[in-house]
Amino acid sequence: MKAAVLYEPRKPMVIEDLKLAPPKAGEVRVKVAANGACHSDLHVMTGDMRMPLPMVLGHEGAGIVAEVGAGVASVKEGDHVVLSFSPVCGYCHYCTQGQPHLCITRPQGLGTLMDGTTRLSKNGSEIFHFCYAATFAEEAVVPESCAIKIRDDVPLDRACFVGCGTMTGIGAVINTAKVRPGANVAVIGCGGVGLNVIQGAALAGAHEIVAIDLLANKLELAKVFGATKVVNPSQDDAYKAVMDLTHGSGVDYAFEVISSPKTIELAFRMTGRGGTCTIVGVSPEGARISFNPNVFTLMEKRLIGSYYGSTRPRIDMPLLIDLYMDKKIKIDELVSRTFPLEGVNEAYDLLRKGETSRSVIKFF
Ligand SMILES: [Zn+2]
Ligand SMILES: [Zn+2]
Repeated sequence: MKAAVLYEPRKPMVIEDLKLAPPKAGEVRVKVAANGACHSDLHVMTGDMRMPLPMVLGHEGAGIVAEVGAGVASVKEGDHVVLSFSPVCGYCHYCTQGQPHLCITRPQGLGTLMDGTTRLSKNGSEIFHFCYAATFAEEAVVPESCAIKIRDDVPLDRACFVGCGTMTGIGAVINTAKVRPGANVAVIGCGGVGLNVIQGAALAGAHEIVAIDLLANKLELAKVFGATKVVNPSQDDAYKAVMDLTHGSGVDYAFEVISSPKTIELAFRMTGRGGTCTIVGVSPEGARISFNPNVFTLMEKRLIGSYYGSTRPRIDMPLLIDLYMDKKIKIDELVSRTFPLEGVNEAYDLLRKGETSRSVIKFF
């Protein structure tokens, strides 16, 4: 089958034929229909996130189940699925208490499936899987818990975004920060995930939603997703704009969706007393932030993180699909370009330049 393989950071992915071994017990083979070109893959391409190579990237996928391994009960051949990139065991401490996104029973090695081996190979040499998904390929073998059954009337080139950006953004607001109606919200970074944080805040009934980004085209989209005010820090002081809008008190909830120490500190600074600042992005290795600890005590500010929108995949992903089909959340507006697999490098060039919020790589 055809796949895009990353051999070296900062080099284009190579489109070539790979061998995909059949699913083992507890695994599912999926015909990949579509993937979003998400920023996390870019971190591997640039070398900011170190992964074993060669690797097939892609982790924001949706498709149709083609084959199930022994013991698989939750999906069958022909089911439409969104792919989660975070396997869950269902029995560990975290899974049991309703936080499956924090499941601890993952393999220690990176780039493999749960048993520590890969199903991808070329001429007998193993090729690694990114995030249990590796969806920049015509087919993928994934753990059963990553194949989330969805309704089959949703277009798969829209459903795929629920596998990462839409879930991560809306989940950070609804599941992690639990934004309350009437709250004031600031969002730093308006890429694919940031736009979903914005629409999550709108869905939660936030009052003011301030979108902050350096790119004018992203700020325009932020308005479409529900921002009530946009600020471009290259023209205006973002901290001052937020303080003016909130009469000097700061926002109840700030979200940092860029992942740089500078913007995390800014997001925390614009968070008001008793407010919550949520870090959504994944920072490069070695990044450090520093704060005066007294703001935690004297101002009761909270600084938290959100991984994968604190998702409970089998509950939240079908729900987001329903909300999309009911026109209560937007996905179409996220997609600026559609490419075949051969266009995957171009899709990431556009993402790197900030010219697109999301491209979709579409097989069928
Ligand atoms: Zn678990
Ligand atoms: Zn992603």
